[in-house]
Amino acid sequence: MKTEIVDVLVIGAGPSGAVAASILHQKGLKVKVVEQQKFPRFVIGESLIPRVMDHFDEAGFIEGVLEKNFEKKLGARFLRGEEVCNFDFSQKFSEGWDWTWQLPRAEFDKTLTDILESRGVDIEFQTKVQTVEFNGTDSLTTVENSDEKKQIHAKFIIDSSGYGRVLPKLLDLDTPSSLEPMAAIFVHLKDERRPEGVEGTQITFDVLSQKNWFWVIPFSDGISSLGLVSPKEYLESIDAGDNVQTFQNIINESEYYKSRFSGLEFLFEPKKIVSYSAAVKKLYGPGFSLTGNSAEFLDPVFSSGVCFATESGALSAKLAARQILGEKVDWQKEYEEYIMYGVNVFRSYVKTWYTGELQKLFFHPEVNEDIRRKICAVLAGYVWDKNNPFVAKHDRAVQAIAHILP
Ligand SMILES: Cc1cc2nc3c(=O)[nH]c(=O)nc-3n(C[C@H](O)[C@H](O)[C@H](O)COP(=O)(O)OP(=O)(O)OC[C@H]3O[C@@H](n4cnc5c(N)ncnc54)[C@H](O)[C@@H]3O)c2cc1C
Repeated sequence: MKTEIVDVLVIGAGPSGAVAASILHQKGLKVKVVEQQKFPRFVIGESLIPRVMDHFDEAGFIEGVLEKNFEKKLGARFLRGEEVCNFDFSQKFSEGWDWTWQLPRAEFDKTLTDILESRGVDIEFQTKVQTVEFNGTDSLTTVENSDEKKQIHAKFIIDSSGYGRVLPKLLDLDTPSSLEPMAAIFVHLKDERRPEGVEGTQITFDVLSQKNWFWVIPFSDGISSLGLVSPKEYLESIDAGDNVQTFQNIINESEYYKSRFSGLEFLFEPKKIVSYSAAVKKLYGPGFSLTGNSAEFLDPVFSSGVCFATESGALSAKLAARQILGEKVDWQKEYEEYIMYGVNVFRSYVKTWYTGELQKLFFHPEVNEDIRRKICAVLAGYVWDKNNPFVAKHDRAVQAIAHILP
């Protein structure tokens, strides 16, 4: 069998793999990306948060993405019946980007891989990783496409395979998530009755009940993404037998949105993902690291998925480069503990969202601007800024305030 030799093999060309590959290429390492699908391909995860812009900037992607005119996202709106809570990223507590994008991922992910290919990064699409054998930190990966089966010898593997979870499966690293099993159903439609102005472009989370919420993500091309997130049992209980009817019924549950979306034709049959949270026992091992959804995924509610994907992709690339160039890297401290700190901050917010405590803060008239600015910084993804007490005391700040509010 033919064997290719590279410094780093990146599995998966989503945002995590793309950011990792770009940084490795910039550092002069021989990197190869193997992606099982042909791009553009559909994937959910369309609302970004400002922290990702730091990673896209580092990877040299901003200029190329700006050319595509994706919808800019300046904040987020939460609705609950008549109550409204707006977050404006420019008002957040922490330093950092105050805008990002909301976009169709198929086109966005293709934009990133086009940029990489134009710079000479080797990406092999429609090529699937089958097996990986480690010999110390070096590895031999067998990949297959319609033409051939071959091996790739690498000094390091960055596994950015998303829900493919290549190394977690091969190395038995999967572990159950600490979060309640949730489910989602989502679709795209032509937003024909979209109102003019901010209302028509604003991303919104409409709280239908404590654990059920509905997202509306308008894209710049007139298409919008809609989705419902709920406990898995609830989604089962409203299943009308076909996904189109189920989703039409869901739209009618939203008092705010039913007149805008009811009866519009869907661009594809609504898709479902059940029990989407994922976790692993370890984020790294000799000769590999896990990034993005291949490592940990919490919940869509604060749009943190792509941010962790790019944060972990960028950091993995920098640490792998140092290791290959002969430096000693403390993966436990410099990678796992750092990444898990941010994951755990978001985990606290996800948990208090579904207990209703965070919702109480969002919609309560007595919550002052200072608290909102600090929570806004968390929602923007600045979850490593320990100067923010809503980061440093993430496991108790929300509960403590919710408890004293009338
Ligand atoms: C319902 C729902 C809504 C979400 N909404 C948001 C949101 O609004 N904002 C947000 O930031 N995140 C959101 N997410 C999370 C988001 O989808 C992911 O966190 C993000 O896509 C992870 O990026 P990634 O690069 O790790 O993986 P992906 O983007 O999934 O890329 C992984 C790639 O690896 C490839 N691959 C898999 N197996 C193999 C193999 N064996 N060989 C070769 N290639 C392989 C796949 O084909 C894929 O292209 C949502 C998730 C869910 C479930």
